[in-house]
Amino acid sequence: MKGVAVLGSTGSIGRSTLDVIERHPDRYRVVALAANRDVEGMLAQCRRHRPDLAAMADTQSAESLREAVAAEGLPTKVVAGEEGLARAATHPEVDQVMAAIVGAAGLPPTLAAVRAGKRILLANKESLVVSGALFMEEVKKAGVEVLPIDSEHNAIFQCLPAGARGALAEHGISRILLTASGGPFRTLAADALEKVTPEQACAHPNWSMGRKISVDSATLMNKGLEVIEAHWLFGAMPEQIQVVVHPQSVIHSMVQYVDGSVLAQLGNPDMRTPIAHALAWPERMESGVEPLDLFQVARLDFEPPDMARFPCLGLAFEAVNAGGTAPAVLNAANEVAVEAFLQERIGFTTIPRIIEQVLARQNPQAADSLETLLEADRHARVLAWEAVERNG
Ligand code: NAD
Ligand code: MG
Repeated sequence: MKGVAVLGSTGSIGRSTLDVIERHPDRYRVVALAANRDVEGMLAQCRRHRPDLAAMADTQSAESLREAVAAEGLPTKVVAGEEGLARAATHPEVDQVMAAIVGAAGLPPTLAAVRAGKRILLANKESLVVSGALFMEEVKKAGVEVLPIDSEHNAIFQCLPAGARGALAEHGISRILLTASGGPFRTLAADALEKVTPEQACAHPNWSMGRKISVDSATLMNKGLEVIEAHWLFGAMPEQIQVVVHPQSVIHSMVQYVDGSVLAQLGNPDMRTPIAHALAWPERMESGVEPLDLFQVARLDFEPPDMARFPCLGLAFEAVNAGGTAPAVLNAANEVAVEAFLQERIGFTTIPRIIEQVLARQNPQAADSLETLLEADRHARVLAWEAVERNG
């Protein structure tokens, strides 16, 4: 029996994870849950899964949950704040941690889980974008396994031979082909992009996801963050990663070998597949996902990404090439710009403008400590909110 902690349990990935776990009560036990402020959602999960621990980042929400849990006589201990998140991530009965908090806020508890020697199921790509080098160093030091949940990276993981991480050329690998759906505005004209609404941006054609990653998919920043994620996870140089727009989202990514072979992983676009893969690895188990019907899919299309209409992708390549604190700055500016867009304070096409302005104002420094990275993140957020004021 494996003990699991789900960080970000009330979100899209968190709920899909609990759905998969519920199908295998003989294999997994939910030990700890963590979220931000959705008290009702967390209370329902505590009733159903009876975890030992539930953490709410927001102190007020933790207080409300504590009262509700006590009133119902549930066995769950409620903890709060950053320390509470870390306790959920490092609970002694936890073997595997699903890291599915959104944004850089997911970094501290995920790092705590690494240091505590837990197997990491990594959905929170922002952790790697902010602190890739340090994060992977800690992973190596702790000797823990990191299984990618992001569908593309999970696909790449499945298509790579064992031990290829950081040694792609030695394993005959020439390129990683990172697929992208192209998002809801793939075919929209440049001038129409200015007027799109948050609701339109969040209506993804293939995947149902949280609002932040949905906007990221619409700007292609999601793909940019994924390039950086692949760089750190697999030791691939940015020029070894080719972004391929594939609107059907049936191929979840590919690995190209020097002999001309291309290995792909296919499946219906449902995150329960990578979640079940990572939970059970190296075994396989049922996920609840419908089997792929290729006759219904009928065709697979491919096209290059349009970097002119979607400048965020180019900005991410620039940041990873600049190195140091640049990806952390890119990520922080993006989080602010996406939030401002969701609040309807700026238009869709202002998102890349804000990120570009913040990147131009903050010189990259060496990412030699977590403190330096978190300081770059904090400073970039201040600059980004100033840019929102100027551009709003
Ligand atoms: P979501 O918005 O649906 O859920 C986010 C979760 O994080 C919620 O439980 C929320 O309570 C929690 N949270 C937010 N801020 C927090 C904070 N400060 N402290 C503690 N908890 C906090 O997001 P999602 O779509 O589930 O995405 C989660 C992560 O997984 C993101 O990093 C995203 O990029 C990645 N991801 C998601 C998908 C997907 O299909 N949804 C696919 C690939 C990767
Ligand atoms: Mg993805």
